[in-house]
Amino acid sequence: MKLSTRLSWYRTRPSVPPAEAARRAQLRIGIPKVLSVWGTHQFWIGLLTALGVAPRNIVFSSDTSEQQARRWGLGRGTVESCHPVKCASGHYGELLFGQRQKIDVLLHPMISSLPSFLGPHVKAALACPRDVAAAECVRAGFQRERDLFAEHGVAYLHPLVPLGEPDLVAQPLYEDLRSVLALQRTELETAVAAGYRALDDFAARLRGAAREVLVECARNMRPCVMVLARPYHMDPGLGHGIETELQAHGYPVLWAQHLPLDPALLDWLFGDEIRRGEIRGPFDIADVWLSSYSANTNEIVWGAKVAARLPWISCVLRLSSYECGLDQPTLTPVQRIVEASGTLYFRFGDLDATKPAGALKLRTETILHYLERQSQGIIRRKLASLAPRHPFEGAAAGHDSGEVASRRRHGNGRPAWLGAQARRE
Ligand code: SF4
Repeated sequence: MKLSTRLSWYRTRPSVPPAEAARRAQLRIGIPKVLSVWGTHQFWIGLLTALGVAPRNIVFSSDTSEQQARRWGLGRGTVESCHPVKCASGHYGELLFGQRQKIDVLLHPMISSLPSFLGPHVKAALACPRDVAAAECVRAGFQRERDLFAEHGVAYLHPLVPLGEPDLVAQPLYEDLRSVLALQRTELETAVAAGYRALDDFAARLRGAAREVLVECARNMRPCVMVLARPYHMDPGLGHGIETELQAHGYPVLWAQHLPLDPALLDWLFGDEIRRGEIRGPFDIADVWLSSYSANTNEIVWGAKVAARLPWISCVLRLSSYECGLDQPTLTPVQRIVEASGTLYFRFGDLDATKPAGALKLRTETILHYLERQSQGIIRRKLASLAPRHPFEGAAAGHDSGEVASRRRHGNGRPAWLGAQARRE
């Protein structure tokens, strides 16, 4: 029997009609670079580009600054006392009024939970409620007398997204995004997976870079500094660029959220405590922090434990914003954990826009003075308290981090922490 083959069987059909694809490529989406957007921006880029939005049309607001607040946010402030939330008005104003080419959509996701590498070892990975509600607070300032979004022809979207629970992410995004994109639910699910992949790849790259820093420090007995702060303190308008100043003086800076997670390194630091039954695993923080509900807080506390053990971290910078209720209860425990190991600890609390630059410079000089005088002794003492062979011996700078290698081995392209989430369920 002869079977005829139709060419149309093998013709690929675009998942989006051409007219809609062309429209999406032109759509300009503005995202305020505030709060949890700092730690998740790669997800949003991955998601939107997978939906066909041109990367050049995804516009993030600039870093927080006084000029930004004065020029674009004046008179639109919120009653919120938390400094990073207050600053968001300037970001909204910049996106609405300050673009040479106007945006079509202002997207400020209300991220209620966050992806976290601590996985099942903590009780939850929630975002701060003030961070979640910021979109509602700031929006009110732009719709007080009249709707400025509508006046500027901008659609305002603020979906409530539990990014820490991947299975629940597609629905709220679908409901909000379909008002501006002609979407299929399955298409959005694929885009969400692309967003998580982008986030995971970015995290792996940063962990690889941090590993290279540690290899270099280990090879040359060189000290480095760890920052314990929330991801948005990387914004120089909130964190005042204090760590950048130390880096300019030759001290590499690591952030707790992006440390390498190589099993050998974690075993070197925590293995004895695990074998003695004091903790359940390297990511367990129950020995020092029982209320482990906040993703950022948990990672700060875990970072403090690592900083206390990792020899080349001779100094910790703790940054905290003005009126941060979540940071307050952690300040003393974190300081005690770090200082118990003899590691230098400097806290910059209540950071806001009014910190005099001169005072910050003076404190930076103090830190540099102590780093110079005490780092070598701190490294030697911490090395003596650990097993003699460290995991970076013989390591060449530029090697893959353990996490990247592990992702290659498994080859499933899913975020590493998704596996942990699935195990917990
Ligand atoms: S964690 Fe602190 S700084 Fe961040 S939004 Fe909440 S209150 Fe503000």
